Amino acid sequence: MLEDLIHEECGVFGIFGAKKAAELTYLGLYALQHRGQEGAGIVSSDGVKIYQHRGLGEVNEVFSRKEILNQLKGHIAIGHNRYSTTGASSLVNVQPLLITYRKGNLALAHNGNLTNSYSLRSFMEKNGSIFQTSSDSEIILHLVARSKKDTVKEMIQDALLKVKGAFSVVFNTGDSIVAARDPHGFRPLALGRLKNAWVVASETCAFDIIGARYQRDIQPGEIVVINQKGIKSYSPFKSVKHTFCIFEFIYFARPDSIIFNENVDKIRRRLGRQLAKEKPAQADIVISVPDSSNTATLGYSEESGIKYEMGLIRNHYIGRTFIEPEQKIRDLDARIKFNPVRGVLKDKRVVIVDDSIVRGTTSKKLIGMLRGAGAKEVHFRVSSPPILSPCFYGIDMPTKKELIASSKSVEQIRRYLNVDSLGYLSLPGMLSMHSLNGRDFCVACFSGKYPTRIEKNAGKYVLEKTYGQA
Ligand code: SF4
Repeated sequence: MLEDLIHEECGVFGIFGAKKAAELTYLGLYALQHRGQEGAGIVSSDGVKIYQHRGLGEVNEVFSRKEILNQLKGHIAIGHNRYSTTGASSLVNVQPLLITYRKGNLALAHNGNLTNSYSLRSFMEKNGSIFQTSSDSEIILHLVARSKKDTVKEMIQDALLKVKGAFSVVFNTGDSIVAARDPHGFRPLALGRLKNAWVVASETCAFDIIGARYQRDIQPGEIVVINQKGIKSYSPFKSVKHTFCIFEFIYFARPDSIIFNENVDKIRRRLGRQLAKEKPAQADIVISVPDSSNTATLGYSEESGIKYEMGLIRNHYIGRTFIEPEQKIRDLDARIKFNPVRGVLKDKRVVIVDDSIVRGTTSKKLIGMLRGAGAKEVHFRVSSPPILSPCFYGIDMPTKKELIASSKSVEQIRRYLNVDSLGYLSLPGMLSMHSLNGRDFCVACFSGKYPTRIEKNAGKYVLEKTYGQA
């Protein structure tokens, strides 16, 4: 994935019953950094008081001094890595969001997008609610605060029953953690154990870094309450067809994570193998677009017998604040991130594997760089089907018009990219792999068929347009 085009979504983390819970949350967020780099935050509590720190930037920029973590006291903490799928990139939108309401304090970390946010927010604003952020997550907090139910758990449940779309959420209620997943299960959320503490996280790589053990997934439609009395599970939602996001396997999740009960590395490698079966190529070497395509490329290499080479080197040290030099250099944005290895590419017939093509503009630049480095032939292989439609469930994608495959045929894209051949993994091929077969996945960005009703004004642009904060 040429990641300037589709952005990761968000990562959530929560822990109950550990000394220095905030420090462990910091480490968890660090492991989940790939899911969002625009902002990060932690809300901790000791059962009496609640503490918050959040900021714009990567986790180690936001928590740049030990004293910051030391101030976040208590045995309970939740954290969030943000990429703005809705709402502007300003500090006020950085999560966990924290409110004071009639029951005390409540903090929320949310991964996903609500598909009925526009109507809910409009209704509440007409009735006098004042919103602090342009993020759809705040709607959940408003709904909790407005609930007439008695207990905090009932109020949270009441709120979650009113929202639609994708949510994997973790609340810090001051004396407990509440974790929940929408009934479709779009986004992952796992439950783990660290000695006597309970941990929840978007991906299990956040457990590994702190030495926690994966126990199970939080099930679609499940609400889990963790407090001094232990852990309790509730299933208040009507059961619906599960629609796990297949893009988590293709691109978003880290290959060393378990999500949706599956090992990401295994699935991603199988995508590469299936791609090699469906779209073989006569070539000398196969290279990946590092890093997200490495595992699929390994699969392609194993299946095809074509040697895997490191043909592109990625610069890992580009921070958010990288200042582009004024002097215009051709294809600068691609060159800043990747450099071709001439000794590997020169006079070779090259297969390049990427996990997806979005707009195609950066892919085209990359192909130009391979040719410039002396590649004799370039065969582009994509370990997912053409992306036809945007996502409304928590992944930030360009509009339909900007998606190259929504208006161009594969042959037209091949010509645009200037490659000798182009092959995408087929939709049936993607779903036919043994462990995916028979399970229910959302494939809406590839098929255009959304598994839920999409409200007329749903989508990331709505709040931004309406409230002028884009
Ligand atoms: S539309 Fe695509 S990216 Fe969005 S949830 Fe469905 S499969 Fe995932």
